[in-house]
Amino acid sequence: MSFIVAVDGPAGSGKGTITKEIEKRTGLINLDTGATYRCFALEVLKHGYAPSDTKNILKLLENIDIKIENEGNEDVVLLNGKDVTDEIRTTEVTEASALISTIKEVRAKMVELQRKMVGNKNVIVEGRDIGTVVFPHADLKIYLDADDEVRAQRRYKEYIEKGMNITYDEVLEQIRWRDENDKHKEVGALKKADDAIVVDTSNKSIDEVVESVKAMIEEKMKEKEKNNVENTER
Ligand code: C5P
Repeated sequence: MSFIVAVDGPAGSGKGTITKEIEKRTGLINLDTGATYRCFALEVLKHGYAPSDTKNILKLLENIDIKIENEGNEDVVLLNGKDVTDEIRTTEVTEASALISTIKEVRAKMVELQRKMVGNKNVIVEGRDIGTVVFPHADLKIYLDADDEVRAQRRYKEYIEKGMNITYDEVLEQIRWRDENDKHKEVGALKKADDAIVVDTSNKSIDEVVESVKAMIEEKMKEKEKNNVENTER
């Protein structure tokens, strides 16, 4: 039986950083579901299709081959066998992935793929709809949040470190646009699952958040183990 931690939250709330650290500090494998939408968006852009061209986009869905391999501590994202780990992080792909992820057939296919990737592994899965749609029966659900200006600052810093030419105001505008887009999707909209624990990361260090999430995971694991023992003894 696998152990699943679902982590949802808006762009820049710290999901990627926190889940990667949790992977290092626990035995859980991290899955970044955003990477699957980004890969598909890249495929759409490579074919020169607009994100609104649903007819052609749906045809591409049939033969898409997306894999995420864990090498050392780094995830390598493969699209049709080619390493696209860096290519899926451009602002063009970010915007296209936000748009194509509103198409319900695209979501159904990505959700199916994400469930297959997890199989029966022990995982920490991050995205927008993990606790609500992908794994509604996850063992632990966490909703990470932070003020939009704090999230924009974090993203701005990342972009500048990568040498990108962008202003803070542009990043803030992008974050606000992505929030609106994510929260108003017809299917798989970003929202807190009723049984999710909210962690506001605005004024917390990465280490503080990681340690508190780790403690929650350990508690849930113990609980599950205890229940399993009790059930087998019965
Ligand atoms: O998390 P990340 O920013 O990499 O995700 C890229 C895009 O994919 C987001 O803008 C979001 O709209 C979409 N996404 C989604 N559902 C998920 C993960 C990401 O709709 N589970």
